[in-house]
Amino acid sequence: MQRLWTPWRMQYIAGEKNHECIFCSALSQQNDRETFIVSRGEHCFVILNKYPYNNGHLMVVPYAHTADLSSLGRSEARRRQR
Ligand SMILES: [Zn+2]
Repeated sequence: MQRLWTPWRMQYIAGEKNHECIFCSALSQQNDRETFIVSRGEHCFVILNKYPYNNGHLMVVPYAHTADLSSLGRSEARRRQR
């Protein structure tokens, strides 16, 4: 088994947890620079990971709360065609 060495994540792992959804919390603050939201789309938004595994760790997050990708609606799951 390979392990990633990411000691900067210890602040998050060992820190006190807020039980609020981190994505909804970031969206509601309306300050994209402070919450690391890069882009807001119609069905999804893009956010930088505050405790990344590597440089530039981006996450594309659907606004819909689902347990897995297959539960997403057609609009959230499809890729935009050009
Ligand atoms: Zn949420």
